[in-house]
Amino acid sequence: MREKTSTACTNEFLSNQQPRNQWSLFLDRDGVISESIAGVYVKDFKDFKFKKDFLDIFPKIAPLFGYIFVVTNQSGVGKGLMTLQELETVHNKMVNKINVLPGKIDKIYSCIHLKDENCLCRKPRPGMAYMAKNDFPHIDFEKAILIGDSDGDIGFGKSVGMKTILVNNDNRHTDADYSVKDFYEIEKIIKRLLK
Ligand SMILES: [Mg+2]
Ligand SMILES: [Zn+2]
Repeated sequence: MREKTSTACTNEFLSNQQPRNQWSLFLDRDGVISESIAGVYVKDFKDFKFKKDFLDIFPKIAPLFGYIFVVTNQSGVGKGLMTLQELETVHNKMVNKINVLPGKIDKIYSCIHLKDENCLCRKPRPGMAYMAKNDFPHIDFEKAILIGDSDGDIGFGKSVGMKTILVNNDNRHTDADYSVKDFYEIEKIIKRLLK
């Protein structure tokens, strides 16, 4: 039997500083918030189409979270298909639309690198999760939910211990904790997890 190691006295002290019940939500963008077309990069907001299930359900779940982030791979920038400024303009307009709903996006993290660059931020690597944790130290990955539509998203969430939900599943195999068709199914899972 292993001997119990002493607990660090700072743990208790730190936990008092944590806001209570602060769950975090990490959302992929394409295929989750917006319609996704394979190989198409949205460089103009007129081509950005919100998903109806997202718009219907986000206002109901957003108020349950302390923090909400978008984590998105946008290698179209690295490929030279759009500029970082164009991407940021799309994101600013997206956030302006979302923030009139109850609940808001705290920050968007984008990996603009190519797959070959082997950066630390391209999902499924966890770099963007650590960037968020660095910006918002109260984030607890054990109390975080990742919603994505690809294996890369699920791998990203799992690598830091988040609960993972695959949306837009087509009954394919997944390592995600939950696999659903759309946000209408997500609402009750989230309410159960955060109870
Ligand atoms: Mg996606
Ligand atoms: Zn990157």
